[in-house]
Amino acid sequence: MLTVDNLHAGYGTSEVLVGVSLEVKAGSVVALIGANGAGKTTTMRAISGMLKPSRGQVLLDGKPVQEYDASRIARLGLAHSPEGRKVFGPLTVEDNLLLGAYSRLPRFFGFRGRAAGDLKGVYELFPRLEERRLQAAGTLSGGEQQMLAIGRALMSKPKVMLLDEPSMGLAPIIVQEVFHTIRRLKEAGITLLLVEQFAKSALEVADYAYVMDRGRIAIEGTPAELHRDERVLAAYLG
Ligand code: ATP
Repeated sequence: MLTVDNLHAGYGTSEVLVGVSLEVKAGSVVALIGANGAGKTTTMRAISGMLKPSRGQVLLDGKPVQEYDASRIARLGLAHSPEGRKVFGPLTVEDNLLLGAYSRLPRFFGFRGRAAGDLKGVYELFPRLEERRLQAAGTLSGGEQQMLAIGRALMSKPKVMLLDEPSMGLAPIIVQEVFHTIRRLKEAGITLLLVEQFAKSALEVADYAYVMDRGRIAIEGTPAELHRDERVLAAYLG
């Protein structure tokens, strides 16, 4: 579904990604872990078009998209839920969700009606969002805002979803809730590339994982394989 081949990208003259290759098969959850500054967020940004790669390919459903801008890549089916959540605080929960469908549905009369079925699906996944549908998004708890960011990404009916550090800044009990949410996405058949600082939890939910180090993939394998790897055990699972 998503193939990244020899991706290079950076900021100004500093090259951060020096040849990242990875694959996310349809219906699978793939974890991207690694030390701070390894380039995980930069990889997500280069895939979604928020950052233009200088070399390499990004194939979405077999189609090269690395030359396209972020909005076109989003329309082709890639949803990026960035680090730090970024919900629109003054808007209601429901309006935030509807924004996720805007790029997909034409914006004329009847938009709400046509988005209603998708809203229902998101509310089934996150009943708490339905309870709070008319509340300003900025007044939600951190964990609820993360659910909302994921729900908004789902409203675009993505082929692949990129989730960057969904547990960042959340209390441990809420982090558990976030991982529960990720399991539910997996059960729903959503294809997911997940960046996580909690490597252990990420490997519990992932089908396959990549470990990044200084701008490239250093180690890859199934969670079981990574659990047997001394380097991974010492650095991330100790
Ligand atoms: P973390 O786990 O800390 O979020 P990461 O693996 O996601 O780390 P990135 O955020 O991709 O790492 O950062 C990789 C490198 O790129 C770091 O050295 C960082 O300082 C640099 N970098 C990130 N964003 C920018 C930017 N906007 N301008 C310049 N350099 C940046």
